[in-house]
Amino acid sequence: MALVSPERVFWSEMETVHDWAAHQDRLTARAVRYAAEHSAEARARLEEAGIRFPGDIGLADLAPVRVLAKDDLPELQAAHPPFGGMLAVGIGELRRIYQSPGPIHDPEGRRPDFWRMAPALWAAGFRPGDIVLNTLSYHLTPGGHMLDAGLREVGCVVIPGGVGNSAAQVSLAADAGARGYVGTPQFLLTLLETGIERETAVGFAKALVTGAPLPPDLRARLQDDFEVDVFQAYGTADAGTLGYECAAKQGWHVAPGVVVEVLDPGTGEAAEPNQPGQVVVTSPNDVYPLVRFGTGDLSALELAACSCGRTSPRLTGFLGRVGEGVKVRGMFVHPRQLAGALAGDPEVASYQGVVTAPDHRDSLTVSIEPAAGHAPDIDALAARLTAAVKLRVEVRVVPHGSIEEDAGHLVDAR
Ligand SMILES: [Zn+2]
Repeated sequence: MALVSPERVFWSEMETVHDWAAHQDRLTARAVRYAAEHSAEARARLEEAGIRFPGDIGLADLAPVRVLAKDDLPELQAAHPPFGGMLAVGIGELRRIYQSPGPIHDPEGRRPDFWRMAPALWAAGFRPGDIVLNTLSYHLTPGGHMLDAGLREVGCVVIPGGVGNSAAQVSLAADAGARGYVGTPQFLLTLLETGIERETAVGFAKALVTGAPLPPDLRARLQDDFEVDVFQAYGTADAGTLGYECAAKQGWHVAPGVVVEVLDPGTGEAAEPNQPGQVVVTSPNDVYPLVRFGTGDLSALELAACSCGRTSPRLTGFLGRVGEGVKVRGMFVHPRQLAGALAGDPEVASYQGVVTAPDHRDSLTVSIEPAAGHAPDIDALAARLTAAVKLRVEVRVVPHGSIEEDAGHLVDAR
């Protein structure tokens, strides 16, 4: 096997295609043609949408195709075990079979780096010969093997740490001279703190974190206190890698090799740039092809060019799950948007958005309980919230104890 040159800048030529939209159209055509032939599940939805002979089809042509919700997979798989009619090869041609929470069965084909993790690892600075501790689970769920396969593709040396056993993992990582970490950001912090307690020098210099949120304060802690260069990757067991950070760390570049749409959960149409919507995937995977697979995750698409040179748009992070948001005057509002505008404000002790419809006109009012001794500027708060949700927001200051904490940060009272 030829060694990968550590000099290459991008993992894949697809990361810098000149015309991203045309690239997405080509992938769509390939995925739909293949899925129509090999996946009974996809064929049924394509026929339902009137697409019988998918020849020269582009992304826009997928609009009438019903999204297959990830939440519907357990039922679909139970009706047609084990893969709900979505497997495009004989089951004996797989490498492994997994089970994710749901339960959802996930297949792994025999191709190297089946989930396309290598571009994400490369963008995070992982190079051939790096010694890397992998702390996602290797059992039942595919996370550990997803990262493992990508690390092997890049040419890294993997320590299959798996979940737990932090003292043993710290000691092995230190003895082996591991410079890289892959796993959740929270467990990275646990290992670094364990290293301090045990006076063991853990030399992680870079990390690819996934599978859990990375709040800004945790990232700052890892990067500033422990000097680990932290990158995020986003993906699912069904669809593989969907996005990853470059050195600019301004969102997750859509991964090469898949088509990603962000659809307004209310209308099902493409969300405007920077507006939240469901991440929907179409993938020309030869084992598990997907056509308009709804991840249930909310994100938004940033189309502006990135300084790194990759031409793919960026997902703007994890904005919650479909079902947590509400529709206000035709716009989808999610509690995380309110949190983004208000969390961390020292003048705000508590807040709650309530959607009402006086005279059948939707209205969003955010009640604020000020922190003791503070009198927040209502106009400034309203402007900040309005900018965050792209809708006019009324703000009112309420006395301490008026907000029912159990009701959540966004309540639909219509
Ligand atoms: Zn970039």
